[in-house]
Amino acid sequence: MERRVNRQTAQARTSGGTFLSGGGEMGELMRAHQWADTPLGILDRWPQSLCTAVSILLNSKYPMFIGWGPELLFFYNDAYRPILGATKHPVALGRPMQEIWSEIWDIVGPLADRAVKDGEPTWSDDLVLMMNRYGFIEETYFTFSYSPIRDETGGVGGMFCACTETTGTVIGDRRLRNLHDLAISAADATSVTDAKQRCIAVIETNPVDTPFALFYRLQANGKMLLTGAANAEQGQAIAPETLEVSNNIWPFSRVMRGQTVVVNDLSVRFDDVPLSSWADPVETALLLPVTDLGQVETNAIYILGINPRRPLDDDYHSYLQLVANNVATAVSNANAFEQEHQRAQALAELDRAKTDFFSNVSHEFRTPLTLMLGPIEETLRHTTLTGRERDALDIAFRNGLRLLRLVNSLLDFSRVEAGRIQARYEATDLAAVTTELANNFHSACDSAGLQLDIVCPALPEPVYVDPDMWEKIVLNLVSNAFKFTFEGTISVAVSAVDGHAELTVRDTGTGISASELPHIFERFHRVPDAVGRTHEGSGIGLALIQELVHLHGGSVAVTSTEGKGSTFTVRLPFGIDHLPADRIGSEPSRSSTGNNVSAYVEEALRWLPEDIGKAANDVAPPPASPDGARRPRILLADDNADMRQYVRRLLADHYDVEAVEDGQAALEAARASPPDLVLSDVMMPRLDGFGLLRALRADPDLRHIPVIHLSARAGENAQVEGLEADADD
Ligand code: ADP
Repeated sequence: MERRVNRQTAQARTSGGTFLSGGGEMGELMRAHQWADTPLGILDRWPQSLCTAVSILLNSKYPMFIGWGPELLFFYNDAYRPILGATKHPVALGRPMQEIWSEIWDIVGPLADRAVKDGEPTWSDDLVLMMNRYGFIEETYFTFSYSPIRDETGGVGGMFCACTETTGTVIGDRRLRNLHDLAISAADATSVTDAKQRCIAVIETNPVDTPFALFYRLQANGKMLLTGAANAEQGQAIAPETLEVSNNIWPFSRVMRGQTVVVNDLSVRFDDVPLSSWADPVETALLLPVTDLGQVETNAIYILGINPRRPLDDDYHSYLQLVANNVATAVSNANAFEQEHQRAQALAELDRAKTDFFSNVSHEFRTPLTLMLGPIEETLRHTTLTGRERDALDIAFRNGLRLLRLVNSLLDFSRVEAGRIQARYEATDLAAVTTELANNFHSACDSAGLQLDIVCPALPEPVYVDPDMWEKIVLNLVSNAFKFTFEGTISVAVSAVDGHAELTVRDTGTGISASELPHIFERFHRVPDAVGRTHEGSGIGLALIQELVHLHGGSVAVTSTEGKGSTFTVRLPFGIDHLPADRIGSEPSRSSTGNNVSAYVEEALRWLPEDIGKAANDVAPPPASPDGARRPRILLADDNADMRQYVRRLLADHYDVEAVEDGQAALEAARASPPDLVLSDVMMPRLDGFGLLRALRADPDLRHIPVIHLSARAGENAQVEGLEADADD
């Protein structure tokens, strides 16, 4: 080849170097270069093919180089300068290519041979080349092609290369992929440890950009604890399990003050430095402060090793910061999840304990109650009782029954909730049974001046229900309707709708506000300040109904308009497909707490004001005062008829007692005829004890009347509240 160059030189036409015109810095450098000292000789002797190639090179904005002659002497343009970097530009000009690219010659040398010796073009796509351009071995990527340049002899005089550096794209893609994996890795982590492990697993898939990672967290004792490590082992010199904030291994103190710190002398600090993917020591690490969500102070430090073959530039720095942010987010999300989970578990545990407690305690209540009710019922059968004795026992009996009913509801409910109640489903003529149950309320409705419509035509087929449970469903709904309806109609209807048996209990009562409707079936939920015939209630009725209906594969719903009334609708499927086969028509289950239609009706009757009259009149007329003087008058307000009757009986020997069913009635009575003392319950429908007290105190004619609150609300708080409201006692 040497010979050929000489021959070409002889043939060269004088060009005067005009082909080197333009070309920026490289044009200038080429024009000034002492070519005479090189195997190429002076410009005038250069072969035309080289002149043309160099001229194209100089006038292109695309990074290119030419290797010419047997040594592949190097020509490049301005656009190629950054590829050579500070260590190779401008010394590379005119030097043999193997000398310039010695560190990658094992890779590009054979490619150059292909082009020059074999005359074949090459193509390399994103080829990794470990170049030394800035004084360190650097991970770079290039897409390029080597093409042979034919000279005037028809042989290959040199090679031409157009190349694109793709380092930014290749590494950027790799980091982006890693960040994406990191972001989704811990999405469904269930604990902080789990989240950390998942993040570490993702970080370990990219050891090039994160040769190692250490996660330290501040403990309550003020020490830093290693809570996770990627590509490193706890206990390694770089990764002690615990560290004081102030230590001579890692500069934690500065990081804890919120600074990001770069440590670039790892091999000075540690005997065994971690190695990079290319097995060279990792010299640099970035220490990032991490502040938990909602906190102000730094509470963790993440240490991320740096790829020794990449500069820690802005891109790299922000990638590492994003890695840290992703891990921190995953950890705090998992922490929130964990806490939420623990709270939910604690609540569920509490719920179970409560159910167990209700279940046990209700059971315990039933035995003594039954033992009290039996003897009272027996005694009431004796004809020798005086009217007064009978009245007293009646009260005891009625209220014992009421207590039993409440206890039973509670027991039923907790059993259903605990899944301990098993229904037995019997083919039932639902229309007939429902009519019979609702009929029991006729007398109460008559006394209350309400109309009770029962429209239950026979259904096309029997419905499978547990008779005891159905009874509770109907009685609860009708007694609620009665409790909250002062005038109009209560309608009970059964019909077949869309393959279901449907029970509707509709009333023209006080209704339920839209904001309360969604909560109405929650256990123990009661509408605050609901206007009803009584304030009594436990908030368990509707919750129990809902559970019982669900046991039948049915649904219960309510619609209501405040002031207009409510409609409760229960739907049960026909047939048996939705029910457990082994519970159909089977032996009656012993779990039911028994039916008690009369208890419901009796209780409803006691809510009626008329009842007071009757009960009150049963009380023996008060003995006249011996000296014929006027007896003091007491006005008694209580929504429980038995309580009115009982208190009245206690006082009737010495006082004239007027008993009314709520605060409003009491206020009216006081205005009509001021009493000497007002004895008032606190929780009452229409106007409660506090409202009554305020109204009395605001009335100049009545403000002097002493008021005593009488309440089942036990405790000092209630007492203080009453006294603060200006009750006398
Ligand atoms: P309780 O009647 O023992 O308070 P329930 O679970 O039966 O408990 O009812 C819960 C609440 O729903 C009642 O306190 C009442 O405010 C409201 N409610 C139930 N039925 C009706 C109705 N027919 N009309 C108006 N309000 C009702």
